Amino acid sequence: MRGLADYHVHTDRCGHAGGASEAFVRRALGLGLVEIAFTDHVPLYFLPLAERDPKLAMREEEFDDYVAEVEALRREFEGRIPVRLGLEADYAEGHEAELSRWLARAEWDVVLGSVHWVAGGWIDDPSTSPARFAREGVENLYAEYYRLLAKAARTGFFDVLTHFDLPKKHGHRPATPLRDAEEAALAAAKEAGCSIEISSAGLRKPVGELYPEPRLLERAVAVGIPVTFSSDAHAPAEVGWGYERTLAAARDAGVREFVTFERRRKRFRPLPE
Ligand SMILES: [Zn+2]
Ligand SMILES: [Zn+2]
Repeated sequence: MRGLADYHVHTDRCGHAGGASEAFVRRALGLGLVEIAFTDHVPLYFLPLAERDPKLAMREEEFDDYVAEVEALRREFEGRIPVRLGLEADYAEGHEAELSRWLARAEWDVVLGSVHWVAGGWIDDPSTSPARFAREGVENLYAEYYRLLAKAARTGFFDVLTHFDLPKKHGHRPATPLRDAEEAALAAAKEAGCSIEISSAGLRKPVGELYPEPRLLERAVAVGIPVTFSSDAHAPAEVGWGYERTLAAARDAGVREFVTFERRRKRFRPLPE
């Protein structure tokens, strides 16, 4: 997918990704991507120490290594492809001060804001979330999710909001879309200057659909929210994965340009032909 970028890529530190980090960059080069941003999962700062599952995010003691590795890759590939230093940072209500301390520990190119933790649990855990939707109600969880996403945008911590309609991951959807909640999250993103990602990851999940769905992507474009492109790769072969469909969806939604980041400053680039 020449001319696009991949702005959401993990490393094996997160406990559920594999492959050498260098292989992710080589894959990006092979595809003709213009940039790649590593955005590994921030340590689970908002949970008690004993509950920080090393299969979900890097451990605190791996953080400095992560930053150093990406900086080394940046130098190694200089002149061939920009390698950006990013972080996928969970937003957890009430823990803003801790997150702020984590974000102060490196000079990021880009910080992704993710809401996975909703009403005291993971919204997308395959082993627990189906029971949660049944017990707590699909509408309730969606409403709470979008409330948190809007609040995340307003913190100013994040450059890009990830997988905008994440609660659909395993196929749970409200009977009718919660338009007010969606619009409030979009308005918050717009006001805060957040971009959103068009992520192919949803295509690899039970829902089998991009994040966000076309209807929401169109709304984001209409509101004037910039977009970036991402695979949420957890293996080198997933870099740029599904981008034919991602690019087609972007065009269908009226996207004409996308953003990349350097030291948290946006650069607008035209969609490739
Ligand atoms: Zn992950
Ligand atoms: Zn991710």
